[in-house]
Amino acid sequence: MSLTAYVNGHFVPMESAVVHIEDRGFQFADGVYEVVACFNGRFLDMQPHLERLERSCNAIGIALPCTLDRLAELVQQTWSENPFPDAMIYIQVTRGVAPRSHLAPENLLPTLIITSSDLPRPSDAKLAKGARAITLSDFRWKHCEIKSIALLASVIGKQEANRRHADEAFWLDTEGHVLEGCSTNIFAVIGGVLVTHPLDHQVLGGITRSMVIRIAQEAGIEVEQRAWRLDEAGLSECMLTSTTNAVLPVCFMDDKPVGSGVPGPMTIRLRQLVLQSMEALRSA
Ligand code: PLP
Repeated sequence: MSLTAYVNGHFVPMESAVVHIEDRGFQFADGVYEVVACFNGRFLDMQPHLERLERSCNAIGIALPCTLDRLAELVQQTWSENPFPDAMIYIQVTRGVAPRSHLAPENLLPTLIITSSDLPRPSDAKLAKGARAITLSDFRWKHCEIKSIALLASVIGKQEANRRHADEAFWLDTEGHVLEGCSTNIFAVIGGVLVTHPLDHQVLGGITRSMVIRIAQEAGIEVEQRAWRLDEAGLSECMLTSTTNAVLPVCFMDDKPVGSGVPGPMTIRLRQLVLQSMEALRSA
């Protein structure tokens, strides 16, 4: 399939989809983004994703170049131009183009790009064995609730994970609490309770994280949003969540097994429940 991208009001072939070298996204990482999953043309939690994009824009003072309804139409059109059965929609908004200066001129026209590509998914082997992860002290900025395109710390974290033959790096605060990964949220099962760090400036409010909390509560699983550590008594499972991974077991952390070192029953159950929601969209 030859790919088409949406760039500032036009659908253009991917090869000629370009932005200006003085785009502030390029020079300052002055922008925000979203990643939405799409199954057979139906979007998983589109509204929460678009609302998070709007919140991210508001947080850094960028006015979205169109309404959320119009954005939803553009996302739909971008998928129609690139109709992958399971698609990953990428939306990026930057402050726009201006001569390089930290202080941006007022009333810049924001840059909006949207692409649709094949949704990456964890391999069967990864699902069977679970992911391996490392931990790193958090050296990111103090506004992780904004889905910023300034991802250098996350890139370095992933590179370090890869160098140590792991799939993800999880950030620890100064007291050893597990915050989130470079591109994922993380849950633990501690004494049978599903635990994840509360929403604050140290974690992104993942859309999958919210979905898992809701699905778990509906299934009668107790959920606690509190700071937690890997060395807590009774910790039996860890799982990461994100749009592209859904729910994925994390079975090794810094080369030590998490619980028994194999995907645990709560993780497997929650993954099945999330996949059911995706399947329901696919066949709606
Ligand atoms: N945390 C971080 C730092 C992320 O970058 C992401 C996704 O990119 C997530 C969590 C998961 O968010 P979502 O479930 O909305 O994909």
